[in-house]
Amino acid sequence: MKITERLKTGRQVFSFEFYPPKTAEDTAKLFATAVELMKLSPDFVSVTNSSSGVAPYRTVALCGVLKAQFGLDVVAHLTCLAHSRKEITEICDGLRKMGITNVLALRGDPHNVAADVRRRDYSYAAQLVADLKKDGGFAVGGACYPEKHPESASMEADIARLREKVDAGAEYLITQLFFDNDIYFRFVEKAAAAGIRVPVLPGLMPLTGYRQMQNFTQMMKVRVPDALRRGVEKWDGDKDGLFKFSVDYASAQAEGLLKGGAPGLHIYTLNRSRAAMAILRNVKGQA
Ligand code: FAD
Repeated sequence: MKITERLKTGRQVFSFEFYPPKTAEDTAKLFATAVELMKLSPDFVSVTNSSSGVAPYRTVALCGVLKAQFGLDVVAHLTCLAHSRKEITEICDGLRKMGITNVLALRGDPHNVAADVRRRDYSYAAQLVADLKKDGGFAVGGACYPEKHPESASMEADIARLREKVDAGAEYLITQLFFDNDIYFRFVEKAAAAGIRVPVLPGLMPLTGYRQMQNFTQMMKVRVPDALRRGVEKWDGDKDGLFKFSVDYASAQAEGLLKGGAPGLHIYTLNRSRAAMAILRNVKGQA
């Protein structure tokens, strides 16, 4: 089923993001995770794509397995940096044959990609979105950044580019992770004021440690509120204490988002089920 059809029902949707594993052991772990998360009947799962040029077809293969073997609705991430126009056409043919009708069109991060493997047919996600819409049959989504994309000079400039992506055919957006709901709601308001009318699914990730927190702030330029920072510092080194604190924080964030009218939740799982299950069970009130 197309994600856009689900979003049109007005029911809040729940989804999980996976990345393609690199080893046999990690593959087994991911499938165990998928078995657990299926118990929560997600509306869809998405699979990231390496923009580094290393085995980008793992994404398509994993999407096929998750759909055929697990019966999940799947969104395949595709990046400008990993694929030429010709490769995108071939991938789309393959996805169609597997009955996969959802894709998320992304640019990828140029600083992660060696010049010799980088594809150059598309410079920005909006161009990929336009081609994917021409190819037909796909519900196409895009990424957005409630604290602006790090390369953008201003929020206004970033939202103007986002509008171009939506005008090119992006039918829904998934946000970069964030830790302060006000930032999400302000962003959605600004996007709407700029004429962006598509659903904006908030991306949520529980923090798993002090180093991860520093990476997010430094690399992704995501703000960590004082209460979250203090909690992570307090529980650093105590795995169970940190897990509980992080899940409680993310659950409160999730509840606030859903109560405030977000169209659903997209949980970045890092291929693990425990935190995602605990958060969704908390918000859905399940035992
Ligand atoms: P774009 O929409 O192309 O925007 C990138 C930057 O260029 C922005 O600053 C934008 O304002 C600017 N811009 C856009 N159009 C123009 C223009 N015409 N002229 C000048 N500037 C312009 N990365 C991966 O490698 N694989 C994944 O699977 C993946 N999944 C992701 C999923 C989500 C939900 C999110 C939020 C990010 C994901 N990323 C992934 C990371 C993403 O690829 C990077 O954040 C990347 O830097 C930007 O991608 P984008 O699709 O938002 O790019």
